[in-house]
Amino acid sequence: MATPEFQFTDGTTLPVGTMYCIGRNYAAHAREMGADVPTAPLVFIKPPTAYVPDGGSIVIPSYSSNLHHEVELVVIIGADAENVNTVDALFYVAGYAVGIDATLRDVQAEAKKKGEPWSVAKSFRTSAPVSVCVPAREVATDEPLELCLSVNGELRQHGFTSHMERSVAELVAYCSSVFGLQRGDCIFTGTPEGVSQVHKGDTLHAELVGKTSLTVSIA
Ligand code: MG
Repeated sequence: MATPEFQFTDGTTLPVGTMYCIGRNYAAHAREMGADVPTAPLVFIKPPTAYVPDGGSIVIPSYSSNLHHEVELVVIIGADAENVNTVDALFYVAGYAVGIDATLRDVQAEAKKKGEPWSVAKSFRTSAPVSVCVPAREVATDEPLELCLSVNGELRQHGFTSHMERSVAELVAYCSSVFGLQRGDCIFTGTPEGVSQVHKGDTLHAELVGKTSLTVSIA
């Protein structure tokens, strides 16, 4: 299998590395899941085989009957980073994209009940569609970025990155300290409220408004 690559609007590419995902980074989504905002970032990991490019499909595994969408700002790392502080963190960002943290909610609920890891619910093949990426120089991160997601043309999620509990710089710094980030890694920064179930045959359209968008189908 060829190594998957992130595509940028300027024609450059980066090999897809480890995908770090932040849980409950929006208070309203934590509430809808009946959970609190964690005191330290809640991190899980998806492998490169989870990546799906724009126009691809999320395949529901046979062991689940409840796939949820979570629309998220995705931060693409452009240079290796270890123990970076929040002041320098954004220098390591190559660009931004919109992604879907596809989640098997039934499998996740069972894992939570048993106190088991979420990998099988969150990190299966095709669980991480990511749009074409916008170079960081074209994105002003001091203003809120707007995210939305529709299913078959009906709006389901709409939010602003200003509602994130931890900023992009804080998340890059944290992941660089705990894991060490490498060029081509990315961070899914958490989802706003409005997650819901999708079914085989549905079309999902996600937008980082005014910047880039992503269309995937459910198979
Ligand atoms: Mg998520």
